[in-house]
Amino acid sequence: MAEDKTNARMRERPVAERIRDFEEVPLGYTAQQAVAEAKRCLQCKDPKCVKGCPVEIDIPAFIKLIAQGLPAEAASKIKETNSLPAVCGRVCPQEEQCELTCILNAKKAPIAIGSLERFAAEAESKENTEPRRSAAGSASIAVIGSGPAGLTCAGDLAKLGYQVTVFESLHVIGGVLQYGIPEFRLPKKIVDLEVQYVKSLGVKIVSDHLVDEIDGLLKEYQAVFVGSGAGLPNFLGVPGENLPGVYSANEFLFRVNMMKAYKFPEYLTPVKIGKKVAVIGAGNVAMDAARVSLRLGAEEVLIVYRRSRGEMPARREEIVRCEEEGVKFHLLTAPIALYPDQSGWVKEMECEKMELGEPDQSGRRRPITVPGSEFKLPIDTVIVAIGNSPNPLIIRRNPGVRANDRGGIIVDDRQATSLPGVFAGGDIVRGSATVISAMGDGKRAARRIDEYLRAAGQRL
Ligand code: FAD
Ligand code: SF4
Repeated sequence: MAEDKTNARMRERPVAERIRDFEEVPLGYTAQQAVAEAKRCLQCKDPKCVKGCPVEIDIPAFIKLIAQGLPAEAASKIKETNSLPAVCGRVCPQEEQCELTCILNAKKAPIAIGSLERFAAEAESKENTEPRRSAAGSASIAVIGSGPAGLTCAGDLAKLGYQVTVFESLHVIGGVLQYGIPEFRLPKKIVDLEVQYVKSLGVKIVSDHLVDEIDGLLKEYQAVFVGSGAGLPNFLGVPGENLPGVYSANEFLFRVNMMKAYKFPEYLTPVKIGKKVAVIGAGNVAMDAARVSLRLGAEEVLIVYRRSRGEMPARREEIVRCEEEGVKFHLLTAPIALYPDQSGWVKEMECEKMELGEPDQSGRRRPITVPGSEFKLPIDTVIVAIGNSPNPLIIRRNPGVRANDRGGIIVDDRQATSLPGVFAGGDIVRGSATVISAMGDGKRAARRIDEYLRAAGQRL
């Protein structure tokens, strides 16, 4: 008999219902599902899953607690190393990390570690477990940016007893978790709860505070962590890209998530969406932009991507949800020009077909133009979601912080920059990457900052 390669799937809202609003789509495990899934774990002596986790969660230990019917205790176990379990349980690509390395993969479905993490975090928030505040240490550390990198670094340093202040340029805390990832994938009340947890560890968070020169901070703080992210959108560079009706995914999602344009006119920011929307790109950002467009009333939404399905960078489950909701995929297709109607609004996108050649530097097969394959697609909104680059401000204003040719801060293998006392991690180093890689960087930086301060005699 063939082995069953599926683990227990979370319940989800039906398509017809969910595409009409911004409420969360997956509903999480029931207690019964969670315990049954947790009991499948072999409690390996040498757990391969932990090696796949950038923030080193003791995965078998928290799963055992769920199997014993102790989900709030499971959440506390996770929080020993990960301050944002409800976020990670929802958006981390576990299928490429802990679940990929789970030993069960060889024969059966891996343990659904992400779904169990989400279940534990939720159980804890229902029981309202208050974390303990750490003792304040003598050394003070400044963190620039309140995304997953900054929050993780800050939380870990607070647990070590340091006084930490996070400076955030926006009025809300959480970085992309707040302004990028839509409500139906990551409810903002979940982000707020986890930010609250980090604060309860003793971290001070100052919003509406843009940092430019680090020298000033170094007079007051003994070390600085830069987690300022990659919020600079990349563009196609094709004629017509500046036409009205063409958005960067950043602007589009920021308007919708942060400024609550989906609740216009209750909230004052509008967002104009047409009937036929083309989203360029195939990462998580593109899938989010496509699904948001549908919920705002677009009649037809196309994903236009120059490679094939196998190279799409988005999480599989997000691609599946997009398809279920009716988004159409134009693969091996690249836009080459955009044309306006008489009023100047975008009305047509000229594309060419592509085929795949040899792998490029990213390891993915390079798209090559098929000569004479040009064609035009009628559209009235275009959303460009082809990646972001690191925010340039810190690098421009701090010549001592060296950057690479893609605008990312250069760090050593433990997150130290070229400026003594200054560390960095997350998207400002990697370019647009993932929540968990940003958190892994934040965690490594916290350890390194602790060592640096101990060596300088500034530890408690
Ligand atoms: P950010 O989250 O960008 O946070 C940086 C913060 O620093 C921001 O709040 C910014 O306002 C602040 N800041 C910047 N400059 C300054 C300054 N000079 N002074 C003070 N504050 C400053 N990853 C996944 O793993 N799974 C997903 O499903 C997923 N989906 C995504 C969907 C979208 C739409 C987007 C945009 C990204 C998605 N990602 C996803 C990627 C992930 O969100 C990022 O990799 C991650 O948030 C990076 O974390 P960070 O802390 O480095 O930066
Ligand atoms: Fe459980 Fe899989 Fe980790 Fe083993 S590798 S402890 S089976 S989750």
